[in-house]
Amino acid sequence: MRRADHDDILPIVMCGDPILRQGAGAVGRAALVSPEMVHLIAQMRSTMEAAPGVGLAAPQVGVPLRLAVAYDGPEHWGQVPKADLEARERTLLPFTVMVNPVLTPIEEAGYASFYEGCLSVPGLTGVVKRYRQVTVDAWDETGQPYSRTYTGWAARIAQHEIDHLAGMLYLDRVRARSISTVDLYAQRWAGREPAEAAEALGFEL
Ligand code: ZN
Repeated sequence: MRRADHDDILPIVMCGDPILRQGAGAVGRAALVSPEMVHLIAQMRSTMEAAPGVGLAAPQVGVPLRLAVAYDGPEHWGQVPKADLEARERTLLPFTVMVNPVLTPIEEAGYASFYEGCLSVPGLTGVVKRYRQVTVDAWDETGQPYSRTYTGWAARIAQHEIDHLAGMLYLDRVRARSISTVDLYAQRWAGREPAEAAEALGFEL
């Protein structure tokens, strides 16, 4: 896939816009390989990279299709304390395109409660309890089906992005009393156990 230039960075739809609350429609196999869709996926990639973010769903750029992109790697970890990376099981997630994804939780692997954020909800972060491990069945950008199991932070990204395709935001799942500005989070809670925030702020993990 070609790397798009910065002319391809799209505006991100902000929370409050009904586009983020409407479910997205399936992508047809023929439409997926059309020049328009190839371009859209390249634009989503450059928009995610520029933000910067670790995931972006098509409704976030105003396109109501079941399509999302994700990537997590060292470029995003500079400001993250090592203890946070380890606790979150945050490891390399190669650039991934999820077309028409279906998510299956692996409940036996348990749950993880951590702060997360969203490019459509700037300036805030909050604790969300997610499945620690999930399987995603989807197509890649060529229409090739895959079934991949993700653990830790990659599983959280997949759950967050696939929620977007159903018109959901992390705000629907967040522990409301955990909500923090990103600045306050960086000053006070980064590098600390979410349990400490839960105790101090009065929410359950
Ligand atoms: Zn989001």
